[in-house]
Amino acid sequence: MQITKDKVATFDYELKDEEGVVIDSSEGHTGMVYLHGADNIVPGLENAMEGKSVKDSFSVVVPAEEGYGLRHDSMIQTVALEMFEGADVVVGAQFHAENPEGQPIAITVKEVNGNDVVIDGNHPLAGVKLHFDITVTDIRDATAEELAHGHAHGAGSEHHH
Ligand code: ZN
Repeated sequence: MQITKDKVATFDYELKDEEGVVIDSSEGHTGMVYLHGADNIVPGLENAMEGKSVKDSFSVVVPAEEGYGLRHDSMIQTVALEMFEGADVVVGAQFHAENPEGQPIAITVKEVNGNDVVIDGNHPLAGVKLHFDITVTDIRDATAEELAHGHAHGAGSEHHH
């Protein structure tokens, strides 16, 4: 079986940045499970998974445009401390918010100057060229429920119902 649209694939991964620093890895976890062809993973990686078989190991370099996107200065804003409603606002703290399209995003506190808080709504990996080392560990047909939901279910998936 090969990875094609509507297959659920599991893979082990190591993600490194341009300098070879490991950003994330499946080491010690169940691998990542996703529904192929449903935008569950970044486009550059999904394209590289197409046609792969179980036990295939490969490396792929994904430019930021096909990864977590480019960094946008417009996503960096200064807001008032009151917006955080008493939460502990320190540099590096992350909060959940919505972007103008209503999608959930994580914002990171960059600076706190008295009542002014500088927040960054860019994904932490925006603008980063991603180096993936991938090993495919499982491929199966998606269930009707998974196809209806547009994501994989079960161990290793990020969706639990
Ligand atoms: Zn679901």
